[in-house]
Amino acid sequence: MDIQRRRFDALIIGAGGAGLRAALQLSLADANVAVVSKVFPTRSHTVAAQGGINAALANVLPDNWHWHMFDTVKGSDYLGDQDAIEYMCRAAPRVVYELEHFGVPFSRLENGTIYQRPFGGMSQHFGKEQAARTCAAADRTGHAILHGLYQQNIRAKTHFFDEYFAIDLLRDQSGFVLGAVAFDIMTGVPIVIEAKTTLLATGGVGQLFRTCTNALINTGDGMGMALRADIPLQDMEFFQFHPTGIAGRGMLISEGTRGEGGYLVNSEGERFMERYAPHAKDLASRDVVSRAIMTEIREGRGCGPDKDYCLLKLNHLDADVIRKRLPGIRDMCLTFLNIDPIEEPIPIHPTAHYTMGGIPTNRNGQVVVPKKETPEEQVPGLYAAGECACVSVHGANRLGGNSLLDILVFGRAAANHIIQYLHENPYHRKLDEGSVDQALARLRRWDQKGGTESTDELRRELRQVMEEHIGVFRTEEVMQEGLDKVKRIAERLEHASLKDDSKVFNTARVEAMELENLIGCALATATSALARKESRGAHSRIDFPHREDAHWMRHSLYSLVNDSLDYKPVRTKPLTVEPFPPRERVY
Ligand SMILES: Cc1cc2nc3c(=O)[nH]c(=O)nc-3n(C[C@H](O)[C@H](O)[C@H](O)COP(=O)(O)OP(=O)(O)OC[C@H]3O[C@@H](n4cnc5c(N)ncnc54)[C@H](O)[C@@H]3O)c2cc1C
Repeated sequence: MDIQRRRFDALIIGAGGAGLRAALQLSLADANVAVVSKVFPTRSHTVAAQGGINAALANVLPDNWHWHMFDTVKGSDYLGDQDAIEYMCRAAPRVVYELEHFGVPFSRLENGTIYQRPFGGMSQHFGKEQAARTCAAADRTGHAILHGLYQQNIRAKTHFFDEYFAIDLLRDQSGFVLGAVAFDIMTGVPIVIEAKTTLLATGGVGQLFRTCTNALINTGDGMGMALRADIPLQDMEFFQFHPTGIAGRGMLISEGTRGEGGYLVNSEGERFMERYAPHAKDLASRDVVSRAIMTEIREGRGCGPDKDYCLLKLNHLDADVIRKRLPGIRDMCLTFLNIDPIEEPIPIHPTAHYTMGGIPTNRNGQVVVPKKETPEEQVPGLYAAGECACVSVHGANRLGGNSLLDILVFGRAAANHIIQYLHENPYHRKLDEGSVDQALARLRRWDQKGGTESTDELRRELRQVMEEHIGVFRTEEVMQEGLDKVKRIAERLEHASLKDDSKVFNTARVEAMELENLIGCALATATSALARKESRGAHSRIDFPHREDAHWMRHSLYSLVNDSLDYKPVRTKPLTVEPFPPRERVY
């Protein structure tokens, strides 16, 4: 088999917002940087982000970063690390102004400043009035940001490997990460990319669930690579279900619709969020709204012949607001539902949306794992940023508009740390050929024939199991059954092969390796969820309905290599301000 070899200062796996922001910072600092992406960069999931990005610019209403920090800590149900949250909220305005200078066409107010809309869980004066903090480019904010960043990278001469699939990290005996093995999806030729530093920016794992808002490519590949390299995943039990997916399909209807004045009703026409969150109503945080919708449906107040969805009403709004501020949402409803939201309400149901957990990092993007002797130790040469990482700024529940912020703030911070690391470590370390062989064996394994299981069928079953057993409401019995089923799927994968004929498409190889990554993430999610015997943020257990701070103010860490769980404390100390102690979370 032909193998290509290349060397770079920095390798970035993933060309979404996190990868491209980091790449730009590095290229502008004259580092020799390669970005590998399994799809053309501007097809990364960041392109689908609709509603916007949070920053306390105070363009519409008074605001400051400290209120933003309070909202984020409260939204995280006190599981977020307060040092990282302070860092992110303080950096937000700068990061947004940088985007403006990169040419991102934000929507504007009459006075020319950036338009900001109200979003869920956002407040002024530490939980009092609703804030307007989410900067938007109509309802296509991610599209605007990703294209802006891609163009800047082209200008800065970042080297792209488009449509290359990263298989595994290269790690030597002393634990250093030295790059990765990938393969060219078009030709099938493998490539060994040696690098002094490697940044994982591979996005989330929404494809774990059958109904989700995520792109088909969001299969948790970086998380799978980390698990196989003996790096644990943090807080994987916390998966966000967005309240307003299109019923039965899962596509996202942005929270921006409620920010612009839309609200939810049940079959009785009641605006039911007034009962669940008397103060914030439809703009309570996402876990709260998703549970409210599911409760209405369970108690028989769902809409339609099967009473299995609720309605999102926008038809009381000015038609011009919908046309100008929510054009993409209107298009989507017309195309997929044949419904014009100017005239009729939209059928919605909660849908899997965002991975709060991921690869454990600190606020410099360094991948850190707990060690017996020291509280945390960096995996040398390895960084992670964006949805695949867990800093953790979102804790048990992410606020809308905080992920675009997270990917940019920590993509940038990781790059800054890498620049410093490259100054201190100017030479390549010797490559461990054993780890190259191991990665290549994973690729070749899919050329074997004669298996009894089909990878497509296993993927379908896995997503169904996760949806049925590890969903919005959870119990011991149902989750245990789910975990057992995931383990059986993992065993059956050993007997899987691709179609038993001479020609196997490279895309089938990609999908098979994605399935391996999905299964790793499913094991992490189900095991961590089963072990956490409390309800916090998005992890809502019917059998343990309360938050238990005395025991559970800690992050879980799942390790695949020995199928075990460990825990580490939440960092409750901010950088400069007083901590926000845990309080009951009401909206
Ligand atoms: C429909 C939708 C709407 C959203 N709206 C908002 C919003 O309004 N505001 C907000 O803050 N957040 C929003 N989010 C969340 C936010 O968009 C994402 O969390 C964020 O964009 C993730 O960025 P990322 O850079 O981490 O990863 P992604 O943008 O997902 O990019 C991942 C990259 O990794 C690459 N990759 C993955 N695996 C491999 C592999 N094995 N080999 C090579 N390359 C690989 C992919 O090709 C891709 O380039 C939304 C999410 C969705 C799904």
